[in-house]
Amino acid sequence: MPTTKRYSRKHQSDQELTDFIALLKKHRIQPKKRLGQTFLFKRFISEEIVRLANITDRDVVIEIGPGLGALTRPLAAQGAQIIGLEYDMALASLLQKVVREPTVEIIRADALNFDYHNVFTQHATQLKIIGNLPYYLTSPLIFKLLKARSIIQGMLVMIQKEVADRLTAQPGTRVYGTISIFTQLYCEVEKKLTVTKDNFYPRPKVDSEIVAFTMRGKPLVAVTDEIFFEKLVRTSFLRRRKTLLNALKATDYFNRGKEKILEALNALDIDPQRRPETLSIREFSTLATHIMSD
Ligand code: SAM
Repeated sequence: MPTTKRYSRKHQSDQELTDFIALLKKHRIQPKKRLGQTFLFKRFISEEIVRLANITDRDVVIEIGPGLGALTRPLAAQGAQIIGLEYDMALASLLQKVVREPTVEIIRADALNFDYHNVFTQHATQLKIIGNLPYYLTSPLIFKLLKARSIIQGMLVMIQKEVADRLTAQPGTRVYGTISIFTQLYCEVEKKLTVTKDNFYPRPKVDSEIVAFTMRGKPLVAVTDEIFFEKLVRTSFLRRRKTLLNALKATDYFNRGKEKILEALNALDIDPQRRPETLSIREFSTLATHIMSD
């Protein structure tokens, strides 16, 4: 994994921060912690994010949580069709008033329950997803968007650095888990840029990372039954520090007894004493296929 560039605001003027706080005051906006509102106030970083997204005027872009428009404005300048999904009523209506480009539509909506297929059908083109995601929404939203991958061309999102590390983690590492497996199974995922916490207001506790997802034409490894594969991975990681044998014994799919599990693991040459967190995506997939066909 190449080391990513890092943008820090240290030693730069605070004028943009002062202006941003004045803007919040003018519109009587109090950032809401429960909605993960930490706003990016550095314009050159917004512009860099939009540049990394390679937007053309033929694209249909869904922006998650546009907030006060830090990304929406430079996105609009690309001439693409932009649909911003903002949950906060006050921010959505403010943005609808101030961003007047005819190619931009701000919808007051919950990105987690939004019908992305409907937009795809209307425009008959795969969507690009972009956003500085609210922390609480990151994992469930990534899973939702992975399920909708056939209508998505790519995603560029800013997320907590620690979550970005999980997305790109390899087997046997502390942060490897269910989200690493599903992201890497369906996407090529690349960390693009670290953005330190001092570029946001209010200042969050941790730094962020910009991550690009490119949807794979076909999954990294063949998965025979996606539902079963998902259950196997999820239940295994609930017991990630146990031996594989014990972790599998505890799942309802393995009610067939210890002998059957040992037989499956031996047939695949997987040591039953290994921990679930050491299994590669391919090993999980062959194990799932073997159990299904048993
Ligand atoms: N894009 C802005 C920026 O970069 O300054 C704001 C980013 S802020 C981290 C996250 C934004 O997502 C906030 O505007 C918040 O209100 C919005 N948001 C929170 N939960 C949401 C949800 N379920 N659906 C859509 N937007 C949501």
